[in-house]
Amino acid sequence: MVIYLDGKFVDESEAKVSVFDHGLLYGDGVFEGIRLYSGNLFRLDEHLERLEYSAKAILLKIPLDRAALVQAVAETCRRNRLTDAYIRLVVTRGPGDLGLAPWLCPKPTLFIIASRISLYPPEHYEKGLAIVTVPTRRIGPAALPSTVKSLNYLNNILAKLEARQAGALEAIMLNEQGYVAECTADNVFIVRKGEILTPGAAQGALQGITRGAAIDIARELGAPFREAILTRYDLWCADECFLTGTGAEVIPVVALDGREIGDGRPGPVTRRVAEAFRRRAPLEGVRI
Ligand code: PMP
Repeated sequence: MVIYLDGKFVDESEAKVSVFDHGLLYGDGVFEGIRLYSGNLFRLDEHLERLEYSAKAILLKIPLDRAALVQAVAETCRRNRLTDAYIRLVVTRGPGDLGLAPWLCPKPTLFIIASRISLYPPEHYEKGLAIVTVPTRRIGPAALPSTVKSLNYLNNILAKLEARQAGALEAIMLNEQGYVAECTADNVFIVRKGEILTPGAAQGALQGITRGAAIDIARELGAPFREAILTRYDLWCADECFLTGTGAEVIPVVALDGREIGDGRPGPVTRRVAEAFRRRAPLEGVRI
C-alpha cells in the first residue's frame, strides 16, 4: 500500500510519524473519512470544507490548499489502483515537545491512507442492527463542538466498548442534557408517522456528509424531513430507525435497548433511502 505522507508517496512500511507528534501525544489534530465509489470521490468538496473548518476551529493550519488536497487524495487512490476505497485524511499538529503547547509544533503532519473499511457484518444491512444506549455521553459543545471532527475519540471509544459489553455492535450516545446526539461514528435518523427526523448539531451531532446525502434523498423522495430534539422514547417508539456514516453508509436499526423499533424489521423508508444512496453514491463526486 502506498501512503501519502507530508508531500511524498511512501510504502506503508515507511509511513511513520514521530513519537513527538501531538496527534499521538494529545489527539491534537483533525481528520476525514472519505469514500471512493466507482472512481468518484463522494462529496469530496464537502469533506474538505469540513476538514478546513475543523482545522480553523482548533487554530491548525493545513499545509495544503483545497486544490492540492484534492490532487493528493486522488493521487493516493490512483497509486493504489483503487476504484472503490475508504480514505483516511489526517492532519495533526505535528511534532513538538512534551508539553501541550501547539505553538511549539512548527510543522503539521498530513497523511492520506486509501484502503477499505467494513464497520458492520454484511447481514446487518439486510436484517438491521440491535443497538443500545450507553452511559458515556457525547462531549458537550462548550468542551468541543461536535462539528469539529477531531482526533479526540476517547469518549466514543468508551461508548463502543460499552456497546460491546452489552452485546451490541453500536451505541446511541446522549448529550449532557440526556437527548439523543448520535452513535459512536454514525448519525442517527428515525421515521415517525411519515416524517424523517434527526438530531441537529446543537444536540451534539456531527454534520455528517452521509447525513447530508440522506437528507437530500429524503427531500427527493418527497418525505418530510426536519432536525428534531429526540429522546430515547422517540427512538423506542419510532416506526423506523437508521444510521448514516461514511464507513457505515446507510444501515437499518431494528431494536434499541431491548425494544423492537416498528415491527422489528428494516422499514420501507429506510430501504428506499439505502437503495437511493447505493444507486447515486457512485454517480456523485470528483473523478480521480
Ligand atoms: N458521527 C461521528 C462521531 C463520526 O465520527 C462520523 C464519521 N464516521 C459520523 C457521525 C458520520 O459522518 P460522515 O457521514 O461524514 O461520515
